Amino acid sequence: MIDVRLTAVSKRFAKSSDSAAVDDVTVTIGAGEFFTLLGPSGCGKTTTLRMVAGFYFPTSGHIHFGDDDVTHWTPNKRDTGMVFQNYALFPHMTVAQNVAYGLKVRRVSRADQARRVTEALEQVHLAGYGDRRIDALSGGQQQRVALARALVIRPRTMLLDEPLSNLDAKLREETRAEIRRIQRESGTTSIYVTHDQAEAMAMSDRIAVMESGRVQQVGTPHEIYYKPANAFVARFIGRSNVLSLPVTGATDDSVAVRLPGGATIDVGAPAGHGLGAGDTALVSARPEHIALGGDDDTAAMRGRISHVEFTGMATNISVDVDGNEVMAALIDAPAGLQLGDVVGLRLVPERLWVVKP
Ligand code: ATP
Repeated sequence: MIDVRLTAVSKRFAKSSDSAAVDDVTVTIGAGEFFTLLGPSGCGKTTTLRMVAGFYFPTSGHIHFGDDDVTHWTPNKRDTGMVFQNYALFPHMTVAQNVAYGLKVRRVSRADQARRVTEALEQVHLAGYGDRRIDALSGGQQQRVALARALVIRPRTMLLDEPLSNLDAKLREETRAEIRRIQRESGTTSIYVTHDQAEAMAMSDRIAVMESGRVQQVGTPHEIYYKPANAFVARFIGRSNVLSLPVTGATDDSVAVRLPGGATIDVGAPAGHGLGAGDTALVSARPEHIALGGDDDTAAMRGRISHVEFTGMATNISVDVDGNEVMAALIDAPAGLQLGDVVGLRLVPERLWVVKP
């Protein structure tokens, strides 16, 4: 198992352009870690992965696999297993022939090829499918063949670029759990690219959230969800309210803010937040941490309901609080909530977090 380190990696496609597709990215992916690059379309995820694979060379910066500086190595020398969105399988070959391909290229003996193909197919729960034609498999099965083909060469790293996006919603969820199980069992250091935040949260040991070529935050799913670094991360991961609230006081790790109703609450804040009385703080509040009620509560706000939607698990409402829309997700909401109703909202102060702009 090896770690993968990117140090100040940038990529500019056109020499004259001043915007970089990937801009000064420094991250270390731990040995055996399942690490995800997450962000909206065009944020530089695929370009970053392609530099790790060796399909692009960085304009500046370095990439290490363990002690090896691989920055300018060709892809085949890097020993990476790749899985893409469109499987890239050979449709005219059988499952076994597809999986054996990388071994054949590496001149592994026929007997070893057969043994390792059988092992790899067992690993992805496709034992006995070796003689099937690729076009006789479902999308999910094809994606598992692609995984087996990548794993069979025992790569030093696995690179996966949106491998689930061609699958329907239910199969996506099943296959993401499968991919994670297989990765855990093989222990291969893996980098996964997706724009789907739920997928990233469900699968990853850690996530790098990217925007405009830059890493906005690196953390565990828990850290990114509960302690987003800035307003972009707060809004991109799940849904979040980012409230602008006046600061009345501060300590090293908390900020006192005044709510629209007049009450003051303490909110957790990152070290070095630099806020003090008289400033305005941006406070991230997840909809599920806002409940109805609070007429006599210190953490209360009042407003008029501007949107109601029932999703089964929760009732999502939007409330106009002094011209700001505040989203709340209510479990067991009272029947008969109506547009235009005036309601009180209660925040869970220990779940709020001060974010940077
Ligand atoms: P998506 O989820 O849509 O694939 P992404 O986050 O993977 O997006 P990239 O494909 O890495 O983003 O693209 C980052 C930026 O670099 C985009 O502005 C894109 O237009 C640009 N770009 C990507 N590949 C090239 C290329 N070969 N030549 C020129 N510009 C490119």
